[in-house]
Amino acid sequence: MSELHPETRAVHLPQPPIEGSRPIAVPIYQTSGFVFDDPAVMADAMGRPDGPFVYGRYTNPTVRSLETAIADLEGGVAAVATGSGMGAINAVLLGLLQPGDHLIAQRALYGGTAAMIKELAGRFGITVDYVPEDDPAALRDAVRPETRLVYLETIANPIAQVADLPGMCAAAREAGIVSVVDNTFASPVLCRPIEHGADIVVHSTTKYLSGHTDVLGGIAVFAGDELYRKVWHFAIELGVTADPFASWLTLRGLQTLGLRMERHCSNARLIATRLSGHPAVSAVHWPGLPSHPSYELAGKLLPDFGGVFSFDLAGGRAAGERFMAAVRLALLAPSLGGVETLVLHPATTSHRSLSVEELARHGIGEGTVRVAVGIEHPEDLWADIEQALT
Ligand SMILES: *Cc1c(COP(=O)(O)O)cnc(C)c1O
Repeated sequence: MSELHPETRAVHLPQPPIEGSRPIAVPIYQTSGFVFDDPAVMADAMGRPDGPFVYGRYTNPTVRSLETAIADLEGGVAAVATGSGMGAINAVLLGLLQPGDHLIAQRALYGGTAAMIKELAGRFGITVDYVPEDDPAALRDAVRPETRLVYLETIANPIAQVADLPGMCAAAREAGIVSVVDNTFASPVLCRPIEHGADIVVHSTTKYLSGHTDVLGGIAVFAGDELYRKVWHFAIELGVTADPFASWLTLRGLQTLGLRMERHCSNARLIATRLSGHPAVSAVHWPGLPSHPSYELAGKLLPDFGGVFSFDLAGGRAAGERFMAAVRLALLAPSLGGVETLVLHPATTSHRSLSVEELARHGIGEGTVRVAVGIEHPEDLWADIEQALT
């Protein structure tokens, strides 16, 4: 190298070979591409997801570590990590649907997904029918010859309805339809939809999987190789691939998923139970409470019920606004699944575009407050919520 000029030597940096040991933590491979010695190997790598690493938009060793980890946790064969949850959902919907296709979705959907499905219907001539998340007979009735896809969520926002995954996925399978399940609220610690018959699982890894409110990401996990290859090819063209640093943050958070979920669930249980005995509260929506419509189904499907729930203030909209202004420890913010407790008043924020009647159709009242419980000490959280109620 020394016969080269300093300008050139500064460009071509040495990379120490790692032999005889390996890093404990997954390294961040902060590179946009990979070098080949053999042009034939490079040509082959560009056509498939399981060849040598080639270009960052296809995948990257740090990103692949995340894809492999979550595919394994969900019991899938492979995964495609993306820059956001919506990136994963779009890669799947756009990658699998064509004009003229029919989509069946559950009625209670994450806002971004609901908006995207409306776009698909309006722009690309895809027809949509909505069914309750726990009604396989309604799903069977909605099936048409051109139905391609059924879209479900394990636990829905904000009143935490639980989908009948075994029943709904079986009905989809009988009809030869691909089933997609958004498992963001449950995480693979509480539910692995592929075990219940799902073909594809999507996540916003922004939430519980990364867990620290410091990164955006998404992932689609596949039960079979055929759908994986199809969506992978489409995702790299769409350009929704995850970034190595974002994937690294997600991997770092993922290592404590089990511990965090335990605390999220136990905190939710304590707060939801105490709220349901509070005079200012008219209803609490957490599937671990016998009053919740999904209680029985949830008990069969899930070992615990997650950290997101909502409750209705007897005082309506004004009480909701007062509560939001009065909390101190709980933070007024969108999103969920992080270590901090976040609260949200859907009627004036996430669901503000809906009329009172439309809100009611989603099970949301004007005094409904959504809580995404963090991992703080439960008594500190309860003290904060209790003072904000009075
Ligand atoms: C947040 C969320 C999404 C969207 O994920 P982003 O990472 O914000 O793009 C999708 N589904 C559910 C259930 C979510 O909570």
